[in-house]
Amino acid sequence: MHERDYDLLISGGGLAGCSLACALAGSGARIALLEKTPFRQAQAPGYDERSIALAYGSSRIFDSMGVWQDISRHAAAIQDIHISDRGHFGAARLAASDGGHEALGYVVEISSLGYILAQRVQQLDNVDLFMPAQLLDFSSDDSGVHIVLEHEAERRELDASLLVAADGAQSTIREKLNIPVREWHYGQTAVIANVTTSAAHQGIAYERFTDSGPLALLPMTDSAEATAGCRRALVWTIHDAEVDEVMAWSDQRFLEHLQERFGFRAGRFTHVGQRQSFPLRLMMARRATDQRVALIGNAAHTLHPVAGQGFNLGIRDVAVLAELIADALVAGADSGSNELLEQYARQRRGDHRNMIAFTDTVARVFSNPLPPVILARELGLLALDRLPGMKGFLTRRTMGLAGRLPRLSRGLSI
Ligand SMILES: Cc1cc2nc3c(=O)[nH]c(=O)nc-3n(C[C@H](O)[C@H](O)[C@H](O)COP(=O)(O)OP(=O)(O)OC[C@H]3O[C@@H](n4cnc5c(N)ncnc54)[C@H](O)[C@@H]3O)c2cc1C
Repeated sequence: MHERDYDLLISGGGLAGCSLACALAGSGARIALLEKTPFRQAQAPGYDERSIALAYGSSRIFDSMGVWQDISRHAAAIQDIHISDRGHFGAARLAASDGGHEALGYVVEISSLGYILAQRVQQLDNVDLFMPAQLLDFSSDDSGVHIVLEHEAERRELDASLLVAADGAQSTIREKLNIPVREWHYGQTAVIANVTTSAAHQGIAYERFTDSGPLALLPMTDSAEATAGCRRALVWTIHDAEVDEVMAWSDQRFLEHLQERFGFRAGRFTHVGQRQSFPLRLMMARRATDQRVALIGNAAHTLHPVAGQGFNLGIRDVAVLAELIADALVAGADSGSNELLEQYARQRRGDHRNMIAFTDTVARVFSNPLPPVILARELGLLALDRLPGMKGFLTRRTMGLAGRLPRLSRGLSI
């Protein structure tokens, strides 16, 4: 058997791909990372960047990887989650203090998180970064995976033990392998913006269900631009048919409608940054692996953002796959073997299914106008608020601490 160029080749340097390279920093794995779009420069906190809610469990994974200290400087802690249903009586509250945790999760701008991970990747001796580069083709057999790529307008060929598809929701690797997907569109679009409210956020994240879909308001860190008031991240889900109109509203009109939908629990909405819209769909690959190929992150699953779990699920793919690869290398075994890939698929299956079912159920039940469904969900919210067992279960799931946890989630090194 000839020496392969790399142990693994990661296609896609988004959050999932860069996280995997960082997770394997001390493992001795020889890694090639391909990214087609050059990494962005650092951005100052502002009003035009999308944010992401990281579950507490994800922060622990980043901590074990040695990057949480940098990320935490840009992160606002979520201490409480208030869930309510507009126009109905049901409401529930999850609190970090109930379980003795420092936070349920954290909100960080994707640009800051991406920048920190990209910086770390560029410092790692065991990672060769090909950027801008694009995977053109690949083929695999028992002995390895052969990859053809274009790097700086030149065609190159590389061999590796494992190809990791971290190339996002439209994964070309998944498509080339003809891996079928389960997919549906919700007929809803998320309108994202950063807003200012007159009241301080006090670490509270609001999840408010309205008849068009959920509306989330998340705490954010301060910004030099936020002179009077408090910066928060808004994810406002609306019907597809309303998108053009909502995106065309003046800022003033947008803030008035938002105030009317959300009420005054966060004070007065006084400022809104640039709005972006994302059509919502759910996609799950029927298989997370193929011969010498593993899918991670959005390439394997794309969720409705209702519970802010998409990347949190992806970082757990990273933690499990990194552990299996590191163990294989220590044992002198093949890091792309069928056995390793079967273990990866088996260990991720339950979490993928549970999180997709959970997110999908919440998205559907809380957009359903039928009176029996409304009654059932109101009772569900009341039960959630009053039954400690149910609350504890949901809190653990939201925090990314449910089920069997990989080493990185338990604060252990890879
Ligand atoms: C409105 C909204 C709100 C969300 N909120 C949350 C939240 O609160 N919490 C949460 O956990 N998740 C959230 N998510 C989900 C989260 O944003 C995604 O799960 C995450 O960004 C996906 O990261 P990824 O690296 O898997 O994919 P991507 O970010 O899509 O990265 C894929 C990378 O691969 C590169 N690439 C693609 N093809 C090739 C190729 N052929 N060759 C080389 N490179 C290639 C791309 O350039 C890109 O950099 C939200 C999503 C949306 C839409």
